[in-house]
Amino acid sequence: MNKVALITGSTSGIGLGIAKAFAQKGYAIMFHGLEANGAEIAAEIGQKHGVQTAFSNANLLHATAIAQLVEDTVSQLGGIHVLVNNAGIQYVAPVSDFPEDRYEKIIAINMNASFYASKAAWPHFEEQHFGRIINISSVHGLRASEYKVAYVAAKHGVIGMTKVLAIEGANKNITANAICPGYVKTPLVEGQIADQAKAHQMSEEDVVQKVMLKKQAVKEFVPLQTLADMALLMADENNATITGTSFTADGGWSAQ
Ligand code: NAD
Repeated sequence: MNKVALITGSTSGIGLGIAKAFAQKGYAIMFHGLEANGAEIAAEIGQKHGVQTAFSNANLLHATAIAQLVEDTVSQLGGIHVLVNNAGIQYVAPVSDFPEDRYEKIIAINMNASFYASKAAWPHFEEQHFGRIINISSVHGLRASEYKVAYVAAKHGVIGMTKVLAIEGANKNITANAICPGYVKTPLVEGQIADQAKAHQMSEEDVVQKVMLKKQAVKEFVPLQTLADMALLMADENNATITGTSFTADGGWSAQ
């Protein structure tokens, strides 16, 4: 049987890039996300690579929906071997103005959902003596930027969670690792470029070079393929000793 990967938020951006790469390697994929064309994306990629796919639009704000997402993966695709906790949202505001409901939502989706999904997948991983958890954190899991209090807190939390999962999974062939990208040009970032251009009264190109990529030594967006390659390495069955770690692809941001 081909291995099965559940990738949250895989009908857009980084998750979609990872899902395409995994499908190409023969993984069956549970696509997931709130995009209206999610089912078509899943069917199209499944057909292209000759792998089984399914789609869920489970809302990650609800623990019961997350548990159901994991069970749907098992019942529809025959198991779960790799869990990529990728879905995430962003909101930018100074602490004193940061809306409390936005804060709670970011913590829920960007951090707590990774716990609920990992918890639900765990018994399956233990039973088959194999599991790979890949958490998409961020360079903001290692470094702070102003106006991102919820995002930075959640992404740091994900790295701590990853370490605990790694220790508890040790010698059960369950690994947990985090990926910490710098800026990747996805719908999440494209929205920020437009917003910041308005806020700073700058051109979008200036926002990219002077604001966004300011902290990256390499002034380029991180390619999706780089992140997909990291995830494939972490998912590999031969790599049980790569665990509890955070791989950066941040153009040298955290080296400074
Ligand atoms: P994106 O906006 O393109 O995709 C986010 C996905 O999450 C979408 O499929 C969306 O439907 C899903 N999602 C959001 N809220 C949800 C909810 N309540 N329930 C279910 N699904 C929900 O974003 P992206 O840029 O691809 O980001 C993916 C991950 O990578 C996020 O965790 C983000 O923080 C992280 N990241 C992104 C960048 C970047 O520069 N783009 C950098 C570092 C880390």
